[in-house]
Amino acid sequence: MSLKNYHINKDWTLFLDRDGVINEQILGDYVKKWSEFKFKNDVLPSIKKLSTLFGRIFIVTNQQGIGKGIMTVDDLNKIHNKMVEEIEKAGGRIDKIYFSPKLEKENSEMRKPNPGMAMKAKNDFPEIDFERSIMLGDSMSDMQFGKNAGMKTVLIQGKNKIYNISGLIDFRFKNIKEFVDAL
Ligand SMILES: [Mg+2]
Repeated sequence: MSLKNYHINKDWTLFLDRDGVINEQILGDYVKKWSEFKFKNDVLPSIKKLSTLFGRIFIVTNQQGIGKGIMTVDDLNKIHNKMVEEIEKAGGRIDKIYFSPKLEKENSEMRKPNPGMAMKAKNDFPEIDFERSIMLGDSMSDMQFGKNAGMKTVLIQGKNKIYNISGLIDFRFKNIKEFVDAL
């Protein structure tokens, strides 16, 4: 089974994790301002290509730095406004960004791996079909989130080897460009 078998078209929705997929993750810290946000290699042209393929593209991101009081929703919105501006300048598109400010220990429905952000997207865009949706992320929490909502899952493999526990990972690639090339 390869991704090509799905014949991705405008009926499909792509859910993207942010940190470690779109931008470089800052280990042990949060991206608190635009100067700390670094796009990963090949992300901008890749999102441009993805925008021509998928009907809808969303970002779903846990941002517990807000819950911890390290940054504010306003700080996050400023970063996201700049990020979307750069993506659009490069010819790409993000239809909506969902973020969770909740702390991990709250085990909120709205924080990945729980599927609340996917349900919110479906509420906003009822045409979303989770069977025709892909969750692209770099952690098992992303894979669990995708499976909790009934999506296909794609892991972007970072430096740490991640094992395919309980078959949560449908496909894996080194980076977003490899994913685009496989569609
Ligand atoms: Mg991540």
